Amino acid sequence: MTVLSKADLLEGLRESRPARLQELYERADSVRKEHVGDAVHLRGLIEISSHCARQCMYCGLRAANRDLERYRMTREEILNCALQAERLGYGTVVMQAGEDDRLTAEWIEEIVWWIKRETSLAVTLSLGERRQEELQLWRTAGADRYLLRFETSDKKLFRAIHPSRSPAGPDRIALLRTLKTLGYEAGGGVMVGIPGQSFASLADDILTFRALDLDMIGIGPYIGHASTPLGSGALRPPIDPSEQAPSNEEMVYKMLALTRIVCPNANIPSTTALATINKVHGRKLGLKAGANVVMPNLTPVKYRRLYQIYPAKACIDESATDCNQCLRGQIHSLGRFAGRGTGARGTLEMPASIVPDLSSALVQLQA
Ligand code: SAH
Repeated sequence: MTVLSKADLLEGLRESRPARLQELYERADSVRKEHVGDAVHLRGLIEISSHCARQCMYCGLRAANRDLERYRMTREEILNCALQAERLGYGTVVMQAGEDDRLTAEWIEEIVWWIKRETSLAVTLSLGERRQEELQLWRTAGADRYLLRFETSDKKLFRAIHPSRSPAGPDRIALLRTLKTLGYEAGGGVMVGIPGQSFASLADDILTFRALDLDMIGIGPYIGHASTPLGSGALRPPIDPSEQAPSNEEMVYKMLALTRIVCPNANIPSTTALATINKVHGRKLGLKAGANVVMPNLTPVKYRRLYQIYPAKACIDESATDCNQCLRGQIHSLGRFAGRGTGARGTLEMPASIVPDLSSALVQLQA
């Protein structure tokens, strides 16, 4: 593990000279290759409900957004998506939703249990801040991973953009620790370029990823949503303009690269939000700056545009099969290959073409 100080991280985050940035991305890419290899893991995303009880100032799903038609997938629809994930050769499904109280602990438990029994998929949940008993129940049913971004390590900014539901409840960092204790692979992460977010706090975010020893780290640009207080400009967290981190793609690539260097064997996706701000190259450039995971969308197309955490999301109309083909094409064009296993942290996959060579070598050795 490379030890970068906060000053080193800040220098990297403020870097703008093209040659230096190229060096940074190349360094991150070689750390990625050495520690997690050339496999790019495919995690099929199922956005199971857009109902949300929270009032996050950045997110289009916030309860106060009355402009949005809400949906909740049926159990059968979710199970069909999981079967499709397996048919498409994905190793994992991620079930994500707003904080929807109608997704009861027992209902989710049954779905997790069914997917684990009927498929060989890893199951990742991303259902927001849920009670420890619920997290425990789902873990016992077989859930493998949980994603809960802490959004920013700046506590004051976090409180301003993420009003808490119960003042005494655990914060997201504490919940990530709980998830690890329960035996989940835990995923955290942040948005980049939130109004009020400084370069220094981004450096702290990376140090927090390392301190928590996260298994998965999601990093994407903040994208303003006009139906939210932060996106409409109604809420303006105070900051000196020279300290404000931009929400552009370069800032995201720098965050990805530095995070890869500091957390060499974490699973790091090239996110849909990144593909949204650069539809042609975003996903590939993320994979070249340290990322090793992509999250093809499996949500039925009729629901996709309703899961509007931010506007103009990439790949909104593509069928699951199109998403699959497009992403595999992008992976191959980088000279990498799509992972075939569940892609847990710490597994290093070989390309399929090497496997027959190895087995024939073994046969020769035994002969
Ligand atoms: N309710 C779950 C899932 C939320 S959506 C939870 O809160 O964990 C998943 C992620 O989308 C969030 O964690 C956040 O980082 C991201 N997101 C939400 N609004 C966004 C916006 N306006 N721009 C970019 N990313 C956003």
